[in-house]
Amino acid sequence: MIQSYKQKHQLQDQYDVILIGSGLGCLSAAAILSKEGKKCLVLERHYTAGGYTHIFKRKDYEWDVGIHYIGQMGKDSSFSKRLFDYITDKQLEWADMGEVYDRIVIGDQVYDFVKGVENLKEKLKSHFPNEAEAIDTYIDLVFEANKTSRKFFMEKALPPLLSKVSGGFLKKNFYKFSDQTTLEVLKGITQNEQLIKVLTGQYGDYGLPPAQSSFAMHALLVRHYFSGGFFPVGGSGRVVETIDPVIEAAGGTILINAEVDEVLIEKNRAMGVRMADGKEFRAETIISGAGVVNTWTKLLPKETIQKHKLDQHLQKVNPSVAHICLYIGLNGSPSELNLPKANYWIYPKDLSHDESIARYAKDINQEFPVVYISFPAAKDPDWERRFPGKSTIDIITMIPYEIFEKWENTRWKKRGEEYDALKENLARRLLEALYKQVPQTRGKVDLYELSTPLTTRHFVNYGKGEIYGIDHTPERFRQTFLRPHTPIKGFYLTGQDILTVGIGGALASGLLTASAITGKNLTGKVYGG
Ligand SMILES: Cc1cc2nc3c(=O)[nH]c(=O)nc-3n(C[C@H](O)[C@H](O)[C@H](O)COP(=O)(O)OP(=O)(O)OC[C@H]3O[C@@H](n4cnc5c(N)ncnc54)[C@H](O)[C@@H]3O)c2cc1C
Repeated sequence: MIQSYKQKHQLQDQYDVILIGSGLGCLSAAAILSKEGKKCLVLERHYTAGGYTHIFKRKDYEWDVGIHYIGQMGKDSSFSKRLFDYITDKQLEWADMGEVYDRIVIGDQVYDFVKGVENLKEKLKSHFPNEAEAIDTYIDLVFEANKTSRKFFMEKALPPLLSKVSGGFLKKNFYKFSDQTTLEVLKGITQNEQLIKVLTGQYGDYGLPPAQSSFAMHALLVRHYFSGGFFPVGGSGRVVETIDPVIEAAGGTILINAEVDEVLIEKNRAMGVRMADGKEFRAETIISGAGVVNTWTKLLPKETIQKHKLDQHLQKVNPSVAHICLYIGLNGSPSELNLPKANYWIYPKDLSHDESIARYAKDINQEFPVVYISFPAAKDPDWERRFPGKSTIDIITMIPYEIFEKWENTRWKKRGEEYDALKENLARRLLEALYKQVPQTRGKVDLYELSTPLTTRHFVNYGKGEIYGIDHTPERFRQTFLRPHTPIKGFYLTGQDILTVGIGGALASGLLTASAITGKNLTGKVYGG
């Protein structure tokens, strides 16, 4: 049954803006539009709000799903920090992860990614003294690609007609970087395979190995963390907790267990939404943050899809890879267990990232192409107060969706013995990877639970269990339909698909969509306010 998240107002049939999904893209857009005096209704199909920023609890533990670390939150002047402060009325605090934010482990070699770009350069050069010039060139290119991205992203807020006139000019410099794969760019700088492997050691953050990913995505991601990693004080649940009052203050509200079935369209104008239970809500402006694939295939009427040939758009993009995540609860506080704050990225020694993915895609019993270990309890300074004597660890790896496809029509928690046995096998392999890197955790594990691509499909509605929405290939960045405006009047998109994956991407997408709707330059307000 539809429920309010923390509703203070009487539910109405008519709002100024309806937002589909409560991911950060929609939350950010809703908070900004609320500050513009709009009454917003956020509709979330899950039993909890926040999209990938949601948390869940078992026994004495709480886990974050889609936030392990965020960059650029240290300085009050940074764009993401300003925007978060704006949409939360400065109620969300951030904790610095310290000197090392990512640790790349290849066989028995360890490479730390340290805070501060000059420190990082030095660190890399200490491992690869003969590659000093290549490292400098690489960092310069990362900055250059980032510089060109500003106009590229700004262009997305332009009305379609204006975009046709001046879009090409604004995007052309970015395309020089986005059209190339990460590997193509890196091979132009160095032939050192180990250096390439290390420099792309965070590829899991955008889901594609070097031969497939766009260099622009790679550059945006690595630059994002140059000034270190940050974690929300009090855990990811604080994101929606601190945005909700801003939406409520303007008379809006967030509903959970509220699945939108269809957007109501009359004469090519969005009028409202019909819920899965048949109830209708009306608004002049509708925003979907439910992912472009869901929006184009499930939420719009068939006639609209045909009229605007929306299905053809999807032939040009691919869903991102699926993942499994082992959520672990441990006896012992993070300090008692001496848990690190840095994320560990563990890779096979023998093959390149692309090769080890190909090997594993053929047979998942082969070595995992990547094992990512995150220590959220250690990152949150408020954790020990909230959960004394306990810790949590998350371990993630990729997995082809097809492995789980045959259980697609079974029910959550009741998928059968074969499914449970496969999960247990994968969980044990991931636990062994943890014990190898952090041996003091052996014997301390109290409980663990593995999520699969079907979990992602069930809770966050990504049909192929995709971890990051649409894949970040060079072709993705050429797709002009990935923008707030759609061919339907009053109907807009937001979320990671219209910009890029990541908390920063989703956050900024909300600002972009709010700017496109109001026709105002709201960035100025964020900086002023
Ligand atoms: C395992 C994992 C780890 C991550 N770690 C990090 C990290 O450390 N740092 C970082 O920056 N980023 C990270 N990310 C990425 C980041 O979390 C996402 O890019 C971002 O949160 C996506 O936000 P979004 O607004 O696009 O929507 P989402 O969070 O994808 O939310 C979409 C929402 O729409 C809802 N919905 C779908 N269909 C309907 C419907 N019909 N009716 C109503 N609601 C609907 C869904 O239930 C969902 O809640 C991670 C992601 C994952 C999966």
